[in-house]
Amino acid sequence: STNKTIKEGPAVISLVAEKVFYNPVQEFNRDLSILVLNVFSKDYKAEKNAQAQKKAQNKSIDSTIEFAEKNEVEFTLLEALSATGLRSIRYAKEVADITKIVANDISMQAVQTMKVNFEQNQVSHMVEVSHDDACMLMYKHKHPSERFSAIDLDPYGCPSIFLDAAVQSVQDGGLLLVTATDMAVLAGNSPETCYSKYGAISLKTKCCHEMALRILLQCIEKHANRYSRYIVPLLSISADFYIRIFVKIYTGAIHCKKTTSKLAMVYQCVGCDNMTLQPLGGFKSNPTEKNPNQMKGFLPTGPVVGEHCVNCNQKHHLGGPIWTAPIHEPVFVSRVLAELSSERHCLGTRDRIEGVLSMVREELHDVPLYYSMDRLVGRVHLETMPMLLMRSAILNAGYKVSYSHASKMSIKTTAPAQFIWDIVRTW
Ligand code: SAM
Repeated sequence: STNKTIKEGPAVISLVAEKVFYNPVQEFNRDLSILVLNVFSKDYKAEKNAQAQKKAQNKSIDSTIEFAEKNEVEFTLLEALSATGLRSIRYAKEVADITKIVANDISMQAVQTMKVNFEQNQVSHMVEVSHDDACMLMYKHKHPSERFSAIDLDPYGCPSIFLDAAVQSVQDGGLLLVTATDMAVLAGNSPETCYSKYGAISLKTKCCHEMALRILLQCIEKHANRYSRYIVPLLSISADFYIRIFVKIYTGAIHCKKTTSKLAMVYQCVGCDNMTLQPLGGFKSNPTEKNPNQMKGFLPTGPVVGEHCVNCNQKHHLGGPIWTAPIHEPVFVSRVLAELSSERHCLGTRDRIEGVLSMVREELHDVPLYYSMDRLVGRVHLETMPMLLMRSAILNAGYKVSYSHASKMSIKTTAPAQFIWDIVRTW
């Protein structure tokens, strides 16, 4: 509706034009991004300052302090799909270390709305308005001296058309923030569409939300690899009807060789939903003193998944490839939680963030995907089985177990599939 006013955090925005997008449900997404950016921008500045000082010392500049002052590290952010500008206003007001924001949208109505809102919220001095196609704008910023410290992609639906430009326009060590809302595609309702958009086949499975995160991560990694860049995930969240990921982007051809060892195909049994990973294989590292990162020879993939499920002997669906390396950095997650307790923030979704991040921190980071209790018991026609019982059986046998933040019924474990099925059958 025209000229409706909305308040979120310290921002008050007007929906000046009728067709400009605003989604109140994404407040959690915006709150979380504010926390992540507060923690990340501090690290980023410290890292860049240290690099600059080292450079100065190497060039034997007399006063490194003077050098650092002259070269004050900036933290620049591009919100490539800005709509009302709400997110940019909140970043300007609530992220301590941001120097400059560019808020872009292809819609003229959105641009007009943004301008009014930036004035009204008194952030015009640090937020620049841009009216362009997001990709065109990012391509203009792909030279290292023009790149952004962080790029936020928050499109309708699938973000993949923006990734080629985005992975080139983030600084080395910078942050890429990506939302995907096309959960039906990512969660297995149209595996062929998922393949054409993300380069991976999705599966209809109880662990589809984590699988969605891992499909998006492998997609970004693939785009980055084309330019000798690679990703380091800091936090990957499944919430409501969307997913949101935060990854660092680095440059390094040698690291791109490790990508295959971070990917796997997924075999899903059509009978019992048992999931088996088939790694794509990887390079054997052959460190020498001179070159500790040297790699030599492609490794075989290990045991190949058979045609039939080891548990129930039925056939497999094939999905993936998915990202199998960690999807969060636990230390970073703890620091985001600490940031949440800082008195500076007054976030509408504070409690929810605390709950989700606490679960994320406890997740088994080396175990991709999970079993789902309802699917396990459903398979052997049981009504229920107490989660506590399952978890203690796993722990008693010496395996590890955790939940996934993506599902209340989830069982993430290092225990082999046979062991899990034995517990269910003998209960
Ligand atoms: N980030 C906003 C927020 O948090 O409120 C919401 C963004 S909305 C989901 C997506 C926006 O992307 C729309 O305003 C649309 O006009 C814009 N858009 C779509 N395609 C675009 C493109 N190729 N380049 C730039 N903007 C685009």
